[in-house]
Amino acid sequence: MKKIISVLLAALMLITLFSGCGKTEEEKTDEFVIVTSFYPMYVMTINVTRDIPGVKVINMTKPQTGCLHDYQMTPGDLKTLEEAQVFIINGAGMESFLSDVIARRKSLMIINASEGIDLISNDEDELNPHVWVSVTNAIMQVRNISAKLAEMDSKNADKYKQNAEAYIAKLSDLKERMHRKLDGLPNKDIITFHEAFPYFALEFNLNVVAVVEREPGTAPTPQELKQTIEMIKNTKVKALFAEPQYSGSAAQTIANETGVKVYTLDPGVTGDAEEKDYDSYIRIMENNLEVLTQALN
Ligand SMILES: [Zn+2]
Repeated sequence: MKKIISVLLAALMLITLFSGCGKTEEEKTDEFVIVTSFYPMYVMTINVTRDIPGVKVINMTKPQTGCLHDYQMTPGDLKTLEEAQVFIINGAGMESFLSDVIARRKSLMIINASEGIDLISNDEDELNPHVWVSVTNAIMQVRNISAKLAEMDSKNADKYKQNAEAYIAKLSDLKERMHRKLDGLPNKDIITFHEAFPYFALEFNLNVVAVVEREPGTAPTPQELKQTIEMIKNTKVKALFAEPQYSGSAAQTIANETGVKVYTLDPGVTGDAEEKDYDSYIRIMENNLEVLTQALN
């Protein structure tokens, strides 16, 4: 009898052992893989998925890639997407390669973070995709991401919501601090580089009187440069805001010709390669706040 029991026990242990193995194996394949299109989406998503076991976030592009205007997908990007269950995009036209992705991966779930946000378009009726540069919009994008992830991965729904609320509390606090400092500034005219700041300007009542380069990375023609210089001379603009992602040679020329000072405003499209820098966006905006307070006072 004793022998039978011990054999049974041994068998039971084996079964438990094997089913244990089976379980971890299953958990591995159960990993919920989220791919984000570029850095701003990555920062939002790591906050929403913070410390949730079994959820992995990969940024498709490099942290230094910046905006995705005219971005061409690489074979490496396609491989990254093959792993993904969900692809989180900014939307509003930022991911111009999107139709390619949809054609190749029909089962891939896509979250458009800009859904439901009022978009600004330019004179040519093109949507401005730099939605996240406004803190209010960033909050809405975080809400969109968390709500959709909660639907798609329902077992972690509460965790996504809790994380999102915690991050939104930080963003709301940031927004309040920014309003407190910027609302009373005497001078609100700014000149920026590429068109990354209309949403930001709208949020804080800044007046973008000119944009030096409409297409990012393309230097203004001598004619455009001349027009901008003339325009600055005829206004009371005191500050020109370059972006850390673009070369400042045109900015320097304008500064030399007009006497305006060149400052740096960061649209938050790039960051350190260091993994999971949760507060990157908040730090960048705090820095922008310092710069603006200095420049416009
Ligand atoms: Zn851009």
